[in-house]
Amino acid sequence: MNQELTQAAPADAAAPGKIMLVGIGPGSVDHMTQRARAAIAEADVVIGYVTYIKLVADLVEGKEIIRKSMTEELDRAVSALASARAGKKVALISSGDAGVYGMAGPTFEVLFQSGWTPDDEVQVEIIPGASALNSCAALVGAPLTHDFCAISLSDLLTPWPTIARRLDAVAMADFVVALYNPKSGRRTRQIVEAQRLFLRHRRPDTPVAIVKSAYRRRENIVFTTLDSMADADIGMLSTVLIGNSNTFVRNGLMVTPRGYANKYDMEDGGSTRDGEKAGRSLSTGLLGWLETLQAEHAAGADIATLAARHRLPADYIQATLDEPLDAAAPASATEESEA
Ligand code: SAH
Repeated sequence: MNQELTQAAPADAAAPGKIMLVGIGPGSVDHMTQRARAAIAEADVVIGYVTYIKLVADLVEGKEIIRKSMTEELDRAVSALASARAGKKVALISSGDAGVYGMAGPTFEVLFQSGWTPDDEVQVEIIPGASALNSCAALVGAPLTHDFCAISLSDLLTPWPTIARRLDAVAMADFVVALYNPKSGRRTRQIVEAQRLFLRHRRPDTPVAIVKSAYRRRENIVFTTLDSMADADIGMLSTVLIGNSNTFVRNGLMVTPRGYANKYDMEDGGSTRDGEKAGRSLSTGLLGWLETLQAEHAAGADIATLAARHRLPADYIQATLDEPLDAAAPASATEESEA
């Protein structure tokens, strides 16, 4: 329809096109944002993987639809740009969030390659969506309530040593990890290698949740442990959540503590522990820790000893000790929220 309009009224041919990178969430209409639905509704052209187009079938009737298979991502971006240059509004659909292992990156790469800049008449809008890690976490409890990261085990575009180094680094640093693209028909060994790297740093009974097809028809959730996760049923539609050293599973819920127990007595209704204050850094927070470090150093511990004791690089310990203590004093004493 829009095409006819453009032909009938040549002035409209100058109307700039637009590319909308739409994250549609995990795969149920209920978990799609209003803006995502509106963007698809206002598009002239909808481009995406067949499964996702089916999900929004009610919105795409009468529109130009370009269905692409999984491996045609660059093609999708090129098609989007061609349509937008022709004055159309294009919705490029990604599952989850378009910027998380999705179409946003390849689209900008294609755009920049073609000489596009942000002040080009073709506008780009990125519409955020709940990524698999948000959806999968919500289904299993609260596993991401402390520092976490995402690693994709896909070696289709990333060399294995790069992936392995990242796995090793985050396993050592005790992050909760969401593994995307953990396994496919052809890629079966990656998850075994990931397990091996993690077991070098984490306990075998570290909780692991495997969520398959979150918020989709074949949704399936399995709780297991690090030492047996590779034996579980894992596929292309699974996300693997590996807990940190404090993560636990209770009553079917995987929880990573936020750290309240470091400061409050959780049993007696929340009185602060000795030496701790609500709204202030922990006694082992930066300032408290610096005092400890200075004291240990003054008592004769050398840099190497302190580095080993605090599991931090020696040059960082040295630089920290070289800085006068009051340089770290807070500028204002306003209280902070802990949530
Ligand atoms: N852009 C997407 C990720 C695409 S990469 C997002 O933000 O979620 C594809 C990987 O995402 C899959 O291999 C799987 O690990 C994960 N994934 C996507 N949808 C999922 C779902 N509904 N349930 C579980 N994992 C999912």
